[in-house]
Amino acid sequence: MMGGMSGLNEMDELYEAIILDHYRSPRNTAAVENPDIDLEVNNPFCGDEFHIQLKVDDCSISGVSITGRGCAISQASASLLAELVDGKSTEEVQAAVDCVRRLLKGEEISNEEADILGDIEALGGVRKFPVRIKCALLSWVGLDDGLKEHLA
Ligand code: ZN
Repeated sequence: MMGGMSGLNEMDELYEAIILDHYRSPRNTAAVENPDIDLEVNNPFCGDEFHIQLKVDDCSISGVSITGRGCAISQASASLLAELVDGKSTEEVQAAVDCVRRLLKGEEISNEEADILGDIEALGGVRKFPVRIKCALLSWVGLDDGLKEHLA
């Protein structure tokens, strides 16, 4: 899958294009009515802050809104997350969060997991910039915490 150096560069360009696209046109930003989960997250080291809203019906996500501001990575990551969770089961969302955590730690993910992540694999490019890992994980960790609290 990794190919030679030129293959890697192509990957970088693809990843960059995905990040920029989500940064410029974030997905699922319209407010959710009567959200079951409604929380704010922030990363004071970078100034990233997001407002996360989720509607949970019968263990699946029927509505999601993530809005906020911050660096390009944090905003693109929040948008990728907002796009992923819509219509997913809470189990699928929690599995995806776990997967993204491992991806950003530089751990291996299976081909099956890579398929589930799709464009989100672009966040893996952030591993080269360790200070940005917190930015990339901010909304994911926040949403996961909110979900855990809601399901408890
Ligand atoms: Zn940031």
